[in-house]
Amino acid sequence: AKAAGRNTLRFFDPKIQAAALARSRLEAELRQALQRDEFLLHYQPQLDSDGLPTGVEALLRWRNPVRGMVSPAQFIPLAEDTGLILPLGRWVLEEACAQLARMAADSATAGLSVAVNVSALQFRQATFGADVLAVLAQAGANPRRLKIELTETLLVEDMESAIEKITMLKSHGVCFALDDFGTGYSSLSYLKRLPLDQLKIDQSFVRNLMNDPRDLAIVTTIVALGHALGMHVIAEGVETAEQRELLARCGCRQFQGYLFSRPLAQEQLQTHLERMAAP
Ligand code: C2E
Ligand code: CA
Ligand code: CA
Ligand code: CA
Repeated sequence: AKAAGRNTLRFFDPKIQAAALARSRLEAELRQALQRDEFLLHYQPQLDSDGLPTGVEALLRWRNPVRGMVSPAQFIPLAEDTGLILPLGRWVLEEACAQLARMAADSATAGLSVAVNVSALQFRQATFGADVLAVLAQAGANPRRLKIELTETLLVEDMESAIEKITMLKSHGVCFALDDFGTGYSSLSYLKRLPLDQLKIDQSFVRNLMNDPRDLAIVTTIVALGHALGMHVIAEGVETAEQRELLARCGCRQFQGYLFSRPLAQEQLQTHLERMAAP
């Protein structure tokens, strides 16, 4: 019993060992995935009140020959822990800017923006601002059509340098959205100080909007606050016409969700957007 106490039981727990092994396997495969070209972006349309597309959000997908499609919820946290998110985030930016250039070449999609999710580690790099500008220039993409989605948790740590980076990129026309709004360590003083263009109402507030009057109160308040601060407000995770209707009554004028479209592969996107834009 004494020996067992010295060597902690947990060390030998087969379940935890198996989990650690699975994790290191996933990490190894993730490292190879960039070289093997297994990542791709899907694009989900964002719409205005008239149902016309205003842009798309780029969402990362990993297609592994053995695992199939792996959800970003599964591999992004690991990519962040291991630093792999840096080359991966760079690839996402390059791919999204290439998509911007493609959309600009077609009159039906020329005015649309592409929103890109950026992780904390990526944003905190001192070279982040310069990197974004370099990728835009290389792709020949219009900075005014690029939107960067940040989360609240990412902004908390170093407010001053966050403001500096955002301000620098905004001076080149790049837009910024605050993602998952209301789920992090929101502080109204951040909203006051950060020069953001758009608030994204998190889908957790949209999900039960029909049944929970507290969600309705929160959404109404977020929309009013965003608009009062001169920001656009978009609701994500809109799945039903009823949710859309209620969001509109709250004053929300931009929408994204399965009701309108799932995230689409690049090949499907162009025809889908052309169909949406047609009268
Ligand atoms: P997010 O940025 O909040 O993206 C919204 C998620 O909701 C996406 O999940 C999207 O497919 C899903 N979604 C869209 N419409 C609906 C709907 O009507 N109902 C429901 N239930 N879900 C909807 P996805 O693609 O699995 O991405 C999950 C998260 O992974 C993203 O959440 C984002 O935080 C992260 N992520 C995705 N791509 C990237 C990326 O390129 N870089 C980084 N750093 N993170 C990314
Ligand atoms: Ca997002
Ligand atoms: Ca979100
Ligand atoms: Ca989210």
